[in-house]
Amino acid sequence: MRRKKHKNARRAVRFFKVTSGFRPPYKVIVDGNFVHALTQQRMGEPSEALQKLVGGPVKLSTTPCILSELKALGKDFSNAYQTSKRLLKLTCSHQSNPVTPSDCIMSLIGGSNTEHFFVASQDAQLRKKLQQLPAGASIFASVNGVHLEQPSAEQRLAAGQVEKEHMKPTEPVAAASAEADYEARPRRIERPSIKRKGHFSEADIRKLHDVNEQRFVGIAAQ
Ligand SMILES: [Zn+2]
Repeated sequence: MRRKKHKNARRAVRFFKVTSGFRPPYKVIVDGNFVHALTQQRMGEPSEALQKLVGGPVKLSTTPCILSELKALGKDFSNAYQTSKRLLKLTCSHQSNPVTPSDCIMSLIGGSNTEHFFVASQDAQLRKKLQQLPAGASIFASVNGVHLEQPSAEQRLAAGQVEKEHMKPTEPVAAASAEADYEARPRRIERPSIKRKGHFSEADIRKLHDVNEQRFVGIAAQ
């Protein structure tokens, strides 16, 4: 079971490496609820669990909006707040007016996740939103540890289209290859039609008749 989870995670990482250019050290935006889940379950340092999961060095970061939510949640979340405060703080555009962590994270990811962030969050809605983006990779924690969301059907489809685009030859190449196909096509060999006895056409019969007539004319003339 554990080995299968491991294998699936590696496969998902490979998918994002190949299709979207994710590279180690892997950047992870860590949501407050994820850090809280890890501290509640005594899963140790988030960086250790995540490093094991993705199979390479990780660079964890938080945002001002995540920190402001954790602070507002009070005592129950103080461990998560203290842990998150030690992470790299990204700059967002909501400094003076914090938004929900979900909105903040989505604004940093944008439409194409050019920074190649993994997002670790317990917010299923947020993870669903990420799975609708070609490069949206997310992580969550359960009682069994941390997991990587497998690429969605949409993400696989988008990856397939990208692959097809790469495979598609440009027009002149396509034209040249059509020409080559034409040249390489098997030629029809023109064989003389062999007519069997009793299968002469009317024209053949007339021709034979003419020839015979000439012969007879010839014989008569001799
Ligand atoms: Zn923000």
